[in-house]
Amino acid sequence: MATDLRSTNADITSLALRDLRSFWSSLDLGRPEAARDELLRFTPLLVAQYGEIAATVAADWYDDLRFEADVPGRFAAEMADVASSERVAARARYAAGHLFTENPEATLALLDGAVQKYVLEPSRNTIVRSVARDPKATGWARHTRADGCDFCRFLAQRGAVYKEATARFASHDDCNCASAPSWDPDAPEVDVKAYVASRRTSTMSPAERDEHNARARDWINAYIT
Ligand SMILES: [Zn+2]
Repeated sequence: MATDLRSTNADITSLALRDLRSFWSSLDLGRPEAARDELLRFTPLLVAQYGEIAATVAADWYDDLRFEADVPGRFAAEMADVASSERVAARARYAAGHLFTENPEATLALLDGAVQKYVLEPSRNTIVRSVARDPKATGWARHTRADGCDFCRFLAQRGAVYKEATARFASHDDCNCASAPSWDPDAPEVDVKAYVASRRTSTMSPAERDEHNARARDWINAYIT
């Protein structure tokens, strides 16, 4: 079932990336300022459009899964907000720095990653938010693909469940992981290290972030080997 959501998400991101590529090919790279401004306008709209679809699909999927699992009581999944246009534009502005170099195509590579991450963010957050509000839900699990990276496999914790309400779904740019609700009161909980490793790093100082990343790297290596 979680596989279904991951494969639908993959379809949604590939449509978003197709639109990004077609927009990219319309840009005049000989005029980098104009191309940058076009990208700053277009990328947040693209992410909002496909992010909305991803959130809708996730909410419907949650409701179907809950129905099939025969969970008692009425509850409807709540869609998460799409990524803010400020966040998306900030990433687009950073990527667009390459328009002014000899390798403008690097902009597209960076935008690909940002678009994937931000289009899927409302899908994951829809599940996380709905779990927090569903009186019968006990947590959410992370589902990664079989060849998922070490970071994702560590955070997936072999299907154990994130039960703390403050837990967030950490992801990297080309991450295809999905979250899935659990209504099983006996489901094993993830290790406390998985909660710590999932913390948001954007609010940390550079020194704190370095320390956090080094610690998470040690845990991931110990878990994987
Ligand atoms: Zn992943």
